[in-house]
Amino acid sequence: MIIPVRCFTCGSLIGDKWYEYARRVSNGEDPGKVLDDLGVKRYCCRRMFLSHTEIIDKILLYTRVGEVEEEEFAP
Ligand SMILES: [Zn+2]
Repeated sequence: MIIPVRCFTCGSLIGDKWYEYARRVSNGEDPGKVLDDLGVKRYCCRRMFLSHTEIIDKILLYTRVGEVEEEEFAP
């Protein structure tokens, strides 16, 4: 949904590299080379990028925040 801030396995910071990775891959660059350029060397961190699906923008279209809050606080 949202890229985690840190790698689940080693704890390395990856959240700050997601948007550049996604932009470059969507422009047709090879994902492996982009990760090499960004300095993501460990395979535990590389899988975080390669297996991630960014769907938060689609989920937000179907979220009605006001109604959820009213239901949570109703007696
Ligand atoms: Zn890692």
